[in-house]
Amino acid sequence: MESPRSFLTHLECPECHREFNADRVQTFCQDCQSPVLARYDLTAAARSFNPAGVALRPRGIWRWSEILPVRRDKFRLTLGEGDAHLLPALRLGSSLGLTQLYIKDESTNPTGSFKARGLAVAVARAMELKLREFVIPTAGNAGSALAFYAARAGVRAHVYMPKDAPPANQAEVRQAGADLQLVDGLINDAARLAGDLARKKHWFDVSTFKEPYRAEGKKTMGLELAESFNWQLPDVIVYPTGGGTGLVGMWKAFTELESMGWIGSHRPRMVSVQAEGCAPIVQAFKTGAKRADPWQNAHTLAAGLRVPVVFADRLILRVLNESKGTALSVSDTEIIQAQKELAQSEGILAAPEGAACWAGLQHLLRDGWAKTDEKIVLFNTGSGIKYL
Ligand SMILES: *Cc1c(COP(=O)(O)O)cnc(C)c1O
Ligand SMILES: [Zn+2]
Repeated sequence: MESPRSFLTHLECPECHREFNADRVQTFCQDCQSPVLARYDLTAAARSFNPAGVALRPRGIWRWSEILPVRRDKFRLTLGEGDAHLLPALRLGSSLGLTQLYIKDESTNPTGSFKARGLAVAVARAMELKLREFVIPTAGNAGSALAFYAARAGVRAHVYMPKDAPPANQAEVRQAGADLQLVDGLINDAARLAGDLARKKHWFDVSTFKEPYRAEGKKTMGLELAESFNWQLPDVIVYPTGGGTGLVGMWKAFTELESMGWIGSHRPRMVSVQAEGCAPIVQAFKTGAKRADPWQNAHTLAAGLRVPVVFADRLILRVLNESKGTALSVSDTEIIQAQKELAQSEGILAAPEGAACWAGLQHLLRDGWAKTDEKIVLFNTGSGIKYL
């Protein structure tokens, strides 16, 4: 079987629309301090693959290679990520009168979280562009994912993690043989250190949105959702938002699918759930701001949501507004309760970030923002096993 080709054409800054050569190493738009996004020749891609063909390919993210950035098959790194189950949540749903509640359960990804999707693609594309040493600041799961994909690729990873990150994440990074540096501070403090070292030592910095391709990996969640619902997107997607890669990536996936003629114009309302102790996007959304202010004294047990400075804030807020979505925060007490309910009524051992979505949906129903007969998808972004 001939391996699929990528229809990647260039990268684009969503703020100033400047174009960047995608076959060189790129980071972000320095002028706008904005992420840059991958662009594809979608007309040509649509001529070269179709929904029926995608369904027949081996499971995983590389089924979508035409609209992913890696050009040669030998660089398509995999540990079996993607194609996480979309589980109907009948018991949980009916407890609140919901008739169409689903959970996209990302906990089955390698290294136990959806970070695998993003890092698989970022490391694969970086390898193709001849990069061999990586650095990442992380709240936990991204560091684990980088460590394991770097091991799989046979290259070096340096992981900068707050010292209060889940011990399981620290152990995972060490187990994979990566260089683990514990930082006295938050993910943005780790990011500053990682950025300095990247410049000094010529390591490639794969921080959230500081390179273009993690978002492409996470985009596959949106592609899979569209396919699972037979190319009719649901009404509401509830997503635990830290750096926003998944939210922005899925929205981009929907635009690309429509451009290829695979879906129509119906879009889900996108909901960002954050923790009360760190909710910069919620605050910005409520005030109608275009940018999010840094959050002071961030604290929550949901480590993946402890992101006080959001580099892709403009993109996230645009998705929430364009989709007629919303943003809301939940308390750690609600998260713990929601985690129990997911475990006991659906058998899902959810990460606190994933559980936050179930807690958030309860707010949306109470406020009448979501209706009980709508098709609603919650994202369980990781496994709860790391937090036990
Ligand atoms: C990183 C992480 C998040 C936040 O994801 P973004 O796409 O960066 O917003 C949510 N849940 C878990 C389990 C995570 O590891
Ligand atoms: Zn720009």
